[in-house]
Amino acid sequence: MTAPFAAVDVIIAKRDGRELTAAQIDWVIAAYTRQQVAEEQMSALLMAILLNGMSSAEIAHWTSAMLNSGIRLDLSGLGRPTVDKHSTGGVGDKISLPLAPLVAACGAAVPQLSGRGLGHTGGTLDKMESILGWRATLTPAEMTAQLASVGAVICAASADLAPADRKLYALRDVTGTVESIPMIAASIMSKKIAEGTSSLVLDVKVGSGAFMKRADHAAELARTMVELGAREGVRTSALLTDMSTPLGVAVGNAIEVAESVEVLAGGGPADVVGLTLVLAREMVALAGLDVDPAAVLASGRAMDSWRAMVAAQGGDPDAALPTPRFREFVVADRAGVVSRLDALAVGIASWRLGAGRARREHAVQQAAGILCLAKPGDSVSVGQPLFELHTDTPERFPLALADLADALHIAAQGTVIERPPLVLDVIRGG
Ligand code: URA
Repeated sequence: MTAPFAAVDVIIAKRDGRELTAAQIDWVIAAYTRQQVAEEQMSALLMAILLNGMSSAEIAHWTSAMLNSGIRLDLSGLGRPTVDKHSTGGVGDKISLPLAPLVAACGAAVPQLSGRGLGHTGGTLDKMESILGWRATLTPAEMTAQLASVGAVICAASADLAPADRKLYALRDVTGTVESIPMIAASIMSKKIAEGTSSLVLDVKVGSGAFMKRADHAAELARTMVELGAREGVRTSALLTDMSTPLGVAVGNAIEVAESVEVLAGGGPADVVGLTLVLAREMVALAGLDVDPAAVLASGRAMDSWRAMVAAQGGDPDAALPTPRFREFVVADRAGVVSRLDALAVGIASWRLGAGRARREHAVQQAAGILCLAKPGDSVSVGQPLFELHTDTPERFPLALADLADALHIAAQGTVIERPPLVLDVIRGG
């Protein structure tokens, strides 16, 4: 059979600013997934899309074509409402760990299909793998059974969910075409819709440590994703949240698990607890449940769900977490009040210590990372520790220390520090 389109005509249409038809988009995505469109042709099309943008109709077709490249899970028989959360990624963003068991303890089923870290933002699976015995890979049948029994699962997405996105994302990564709002929205939403959740809360991060540095870009991404969810029958809302400074104290893998367990035990840093509860309230509301997540957290039932979730995937919730072989401290060279703590610098330093990977095939160090011991608004005295650096490979300290050299600013004592609110905006579907 002859192909209905020539790839070069689709590229030229987009290059010249024309709107692609649904048939062109369906064809190009399906043909590329089957290796019938060359990598250089798809690269040219991606660059044309990045430069000329896409209409909402094109974004919707692009998303459904990626969705149709693989399977869509059916979670309708669980007997509980399904709701998931997706974060666009940030530094110290461990919220999925306490959130999934908390929302499960509120009565919903939470299918958290998660990824690994690449670059300066951490990955949920890398963090969970610091728990002894815990297994990231589940079959769809195991995942569904765990959702029915425990109500929460954090696991790797199977390769047959939106396979077109997997291929396209790898190509975007090496062709300078990641930063296109239509393609980011389609990439995230095709995977989330394929996982079968009926409601979804998006945590769109804004600030130095986030993908989106500008609030107007983050809002556009959020609106685009909320619209895509609605079109596919997934109740979706988006919170724009601050990522100018790391979330919580811990940035790394095992240390973020430890901080999440503190939250489930009723403690933990105020920003981590606050964001967990804000997102849980939004998820519970979308799921149609009339429950107060703060009361469920205080009751200890979220901790019970966490232990059950970890154990169901072979993990030992009581096992000691890995500890680093080497530690180094950065201390304050003057007294004052912390006026700025830059999320990006801390994320990069933690990555350099071994908490993240430079290439997909690299392993992470489970015990590597940074404790941010002073946050914006805190008063510090001379010699007070500001950062505690962890690694198993001490030759990594000099570069990480260089990254942190300008990460934290100390203003004169008494300076009033304006901290941005945790939640900058909320965008809900119609
Ligand atoms: N995360 C995704 O899944 N896709 C993107 O394009 C960007 C971030």
